[in-house]
Amino acid sequence: MMAETSLLSASGVEVRFPMPSHFLQRKKPVLHALRGVDVDIRRGEAFCVVGESGCGKTTLGRVIMGLLNPSSGEIRYDGTRIDTLDEGARRPFRRRMQMIFQNPYASLNPRMTVRQTLAESLRYLGEGMSRAQVTEKIAETMESVGASAEWGARMPHEFSGGQRQRISIARALITDPEFIVADEPISALDVSIQAQVLNLLSKAREERGLTYFFITHDLSVVEHFGDRVAVMYLGEIVELAPVAQIFEAPQHPYTRLLLSAIPRIGGDAFKAERVPGEIPTAIDPPKGCAFASRCPLAHDRCRVENPVLKPTPTGTMAACHAVEVS
Ligand code: SF4
Repeated sequence: MMAETSLLSASGVEVRFPMPSHFLQRKKPVLHALRGVDVDIRRGEAFCVVGESGCGKTTLGRVIMGLLNPSSGEIRYDGTRIDTLDEGARRPFRRRMQMIFQNPYASLNPRMTVRQTLAESLRYLGEGMSRAQVTEKIAETMESVGASAEWGARMPHEFSGGQRQRISIARALITDPEFIVADEPISALDVSIQAQVLNLLSKAREERGLTYFFITHDLSVVEHFGDRVAVMYLGEIVELAPVAQIFEAPQHPYTRLLLSAIPRIGGDAFKAERVPGEIPTAIDPPKGCAFASRCPLAHDRCRVENPVLKPTPTGTMAACHAVEVS
């Protein structure tokens, strides 16, 4: 059951990277990775963020986790502003907020056994636990992710991708966090084990009351995992809605195109279409709606005025001149 209190909020978050320029260029190019993002994640919910590669979803996850500083805007966790904290002041939040990365091959230290990896996570966070308590906590956490006790003495290269992702999940869970940023946690895995890992994340949520910020490019994963979803395009949220509503009545033209690109078995054909057109560059993005070059509903206003998130006729939020309630 989803609670309504806010655990994490991001407001007005922008991330800009100056780009190399030619000495004759008068205006220095800037990559706008995030362009004024606002989100409010409720305690206990699975909040999904979906969009194509380069839309800013991973950048937003990294900003939330303090791995990247925003150029402007702020991040609050349980009422405390955390994006301006120094490393020492941030440490208690690192225990409460954990991250699971996309690539379980790259995210585990190849020179550490599984036990060392998990013990380091506990020690780094200053739990002050005795050796016996650490051993017990490791055993309990490994069991909770379906890892056999004999894995503890083995090195990461001895495991399959799915097993390594279980170890990564154990490393995240061992500090008893409340909030997890999961960045495409199943997309590097074989299709045959994706469902197992997704089920494991769902089970951890139920048992521990976790809140997820779940990043994915795949709307079919959102359908099975999420409570609410934010659709991102070129550094902005373009639609924000409960998951059921996104599938029943998508409002933004980009969301509709993303949904039409989900592989579905129906009629005689298995149809999977790519979203047509190219994403414009995030370096000095166009004036007006960033989706205009790909949008079948684009009109003159779209090319001069950037739409902001507003209520739609179905009660959800979308950034589109064609669906806003006047
Ligand atoms: S604002 Fe215009 S171009 Fe942008 S999504 Fe809506 S209709 Fe399409």
